[in-house]
Amino acid sequence: MIEEKFDAIVVGAGMAGNAAALTLAQRGLKVLQLERGEYSGSKNVQGAILYADMLEKLIPDFREDAPLERHLVEQRFWMMDDRSHTGLHYRSDDFNEEKPNRYTIIRAQFDKWFSQKVREAGATVLCETTVTELAQDAYGKVIGVRTDRADGEIHADVVVLAEGVNGLLGTRAHLRERPKPDKVALAVKEMHFLPRETIEARFNLKGDEGVVIEAAGTISRGMTGMGFIYANKECISLGIGCLVSDFQRTGETPYGLLDRFKRHPSVAPLIEGSEVKEYAAHLIPEGGFKAIPQLYGEGWVVVGDAAQLNNAIHREGSNLAMTSGRIAAEAIFQVKSRKDPMTADNLSLYKTMLDQSFVIKDLKKYKDMPALMHTQSQSFFLTYPELVSRAMQNFLRVDGTPKVEKEKTTFRSFIKARSWSGLFGDAFRLARAWR
Ligand SMILES: Cc1cc2nc3c(=O)[nH]c(=O)nc-3n(C[C@H](O)[C@H](O)[C@H](O)COP(=O)(O)OP(=O)(O)OC[C@H]3O[C@@H](n4cnc5c(N)ncnc54)[C@H](O)[C@@H]3O)c2cc1C
Repeated sequence: MIEEKFDAIVVGAGMAGNAAALTLAQRGLKVLQLERGEYSGSKNVQGAILYADMLEKLIPDFREDAPLERHLVEQRFWMMDDRSHTGLHYRSDDFNEEKPNRYTIIRAQFDKWFSQKVREAGATVLCETTVTELAQDAYGKVIGVRTDRADGEIHADVVVLAEGVNGLLGTRAHLRERPKPDKVALAVKEMHFLPRETIEARFNLKGDEGVVIEAAGTISRGMTGMGFIYANKECISLGIGCLVSDFQRTGETPYGLLDRFKRHPSVAPLIEGSEVKEYAAHLIPEGGFKAIPQLYGEGWVVVGDAAQLNNAIHREGSNLAMTSGRIAAEAIFQVKSRKDPMTADNLSLYKTMLDQSFVIKDLKKYKDMPALMHTQSQSFFLTYPELVSRAMQNFLRVDGTPKVEKEKTTFRSFIKARSWSGLFGDAFRLARAWR
């Protein structure tokens, strides 16, 4: 056993763990961070869009040396059927600002840089160290961790669980349940390398401008899920994910979906001639507000994906992870400053502070969305994309058919596919879940 006792042990060096360890170390606490990967980021998968505001709160001058790819000037949303897409695009020169708001990043590089900042702030960071168990006293209070290293048990006043979506430690210690298959998506992602000029020509970009595409529709075969295409400097991140329960139900495979997505006539020209150098698969928490587990207890708090803090509607995860990590650390610091023990009562401050942040407010706003998307997946991901595509073709083809006839045909196709009550019901349910 390591005799030295720490103020806090942080398990995991992803976005949440790094934010927590950095904040604790910046405030002078004695911090040990444990990461099972060879280095911070070696196990982490993300699209990846980085939200600057949340990182700025941790490292205000991060733009000076962080490994950023492109700042985003354009967002595209595609509703796809098998041969077409209907797009909603927003592009603005306002995003070419001095301090851009969103960037694409490559997690393996970014997390390494982030981890260096954690070390510089004074935390002890041990990689290639898997925490195998939480150490608990006779009353169940968490008093430290056990690792796969020979020197075994390490003690601390509080343990920050930032172990990502699987959250095996927390579930093993009965602090929370394992995420259910209808509350997590399985996403697969590839990195397609191309010369920088090719990417810029294909996406209409100059300099470090970037664009991201979020795609939904028949590409997920009626399952609840989405695809994405993000432009980096010299590669394109491309992936797709659907609920695990939907994969179980349909027998579809993630590789099959990814393959079909890549061969789609709207996607194939963007990646034509590219060299695929990386392939990764990872889970994403998608249960939203109703899936959030107990966030604190005797001697522990849980942050980031391990706490299911992910906004699937807006495709935000890393910012919720960084914010929850920072807030947990600030709460711990306040408890410590008062010289109070790390009891559940005192650590409830973390939840109080998180409830006041955008993290919980946003997840609460969309609390009914995950269930709606799941139960209505056939309509939202299959029927409507096909109807919209046919309507667009009908609208755009100039073939001598009077416009009024065209409108009637489109209208009838919607009624035939969903019925009056179905259409009103879908609109009502969507509006209610969105409010
Ligand atoms: C394909 C994909 C695309 C995404 N795209 C985006 C995006 O564009 N923008 C966005 O904001 N979010 C995105 N997300 C979500 C985002 O990646 C997560 O929300 C975020 O990484 C969560 O951070 P975290 O620190 O909680 O978990 P992670 O980043 O998963 O970090 C957990 C860390 O804990 C370590 N660990 C686990 N168990 C142990 C243990 N027992 N001992 C020691 N270490 C351990 C792991 O090795 C890992 O380093 C995406 C996710 C996926 C899968």
